[in-house]
Amino acid sequence: MEITSKTLGLEKIILSSQNILFIQDIDGVCIPLVKDPMTRKLSREYIFAAKKLDKEFFVLTCGEHEGKRGVNRIIERSLGSKYKPRQDGLYLRGLAACGVEYQDSKGVINFEGISKEELDFLANVPKLMRPKFRLIVKELFPQMDDNLINFHMKKSICDTRFSPTVNFNSLFEISENNLIKIKIQRYFEKMMNEIISIGKSRGLRDSFFLHISPNLGSKNGVELLKESKNNDIGSTDIQFLLKGAQKDAGVLCLLNKFIGDKKGKKPFGENFNFRDAPIGKNEKIAFCKKYIEPKDLPIIIGVGDTITSNQIRKSNSFARGGSDRSFLEFIQLLGYEFGIKNNIIFVDSSYGEVFRPSTRKTGMKGITDKYDILKFDIIFQDGPEEYIKWFTKIAHKRYQIKN
Ligand SMILES: [Mg+2]
Repeated sequence: MEITSKTLGLEKIILSSQNILFIQDIDGVCIPLVKDPMTRKLSREYIFAAKKLDKEFFVLTCGEHEGKRGVNRIIERSLGSKYKPRQDGLYLRGLAACGVEYQDSKGVINFEGISKEELDFLANVPKLMRPKFRLIVKELFPQMDDNLINFHMKKSICDTRFSPTVNFNSLFEISENNLIKIKIQRYFEKMMNEIISIGKSRGLRDSFFLHISPNLGSKNGVELLKESKNNDIGSTDIQFLLKGAQKDAGVLCLLNKFIGDKKGKKPFGENFNFRDAPIGKNEKIAFCKKYIEPKDLPIIIGVGDTITSNQIRKSNSFARGGSDRSFLEFIQLLGYEFGIKNNIIFVDSSYGEVFRPSTRKTGMKGITDKYDILKFDIIFQDGPEEYIKWFTKIAHKRYQIKN
């Protein structure tokens, strides 16, 4: 794939079209990747630019809006106020927790399609994780004392409301070689599967799944772990998610809202949520064709940073995954099917603290391949900083034209 960062064509489309919609991932796109998620930063300019796009902008992230680890806290820090974002509507509107947690720009949260039993179990997952975490770390790092284990546990286990997570970065840092890193990945994958089993034994047979990030795609509905290698750290976290929480299902929810806002009637129904979305990609397309009138579909600009493609030598094929793949592929395909040119932007997030394939060092290797159906229209090789600069400029221009 030719690497192009030419934005002129897309700018023309954004400035001349009636009906456009940004759907954008957060981490690695507008927030540089960091090892400790509690230290994430978001630029003020970006927050105001997103506000300028108003209803033509949604985020779609697997992180969460609320809670102490939520993006809302980053926004409050960045603006230096707990009240201003709510007052002025400066929170990032859209879906978090991979399509489960919706909020508007005033920070009003909405989540549907989840049972009380599921919510209660999710709240209990970090408690189930902690003793298991301790045992694993004791086995892998026998010298480590309890204080240090607690330190790593605090950094590694995220007690988020809809997506409790184990993150490996803190343990990776003290791992001397890839062998240990791979053990960390595999042991914690096993731990998370044990918790899925506990859920099943408590009657939640079909409630949850594991989202591994980044991954190597999935097999029979199970996401494949990406083992650490010398030039690519591989999977860095595993999220415990509600079944159906997938970014491409999130696109359907966002389109329902977007069109509903414009027309006064939501095409998929008032209470449509992530659990109502058809499972397969083709089924989702057929669903859209059934309920959305072509003239109502906006030109979508999809933005993400986590896309993987790794060659499998044995079978001469590619394992493709990454948490942004499903929604970007869907946006692209939806455009083809409706005769619209949707645009896909890839942001190279390898500049952050987390080791990922870099387009500057190794081209598109590890990210995409020539047989990949997902094609990028623009690649921001200089990462979030370059994207934010462009986004701020274009949001401002669009605002001027519309107002
Ligand atoms: Mg990301």
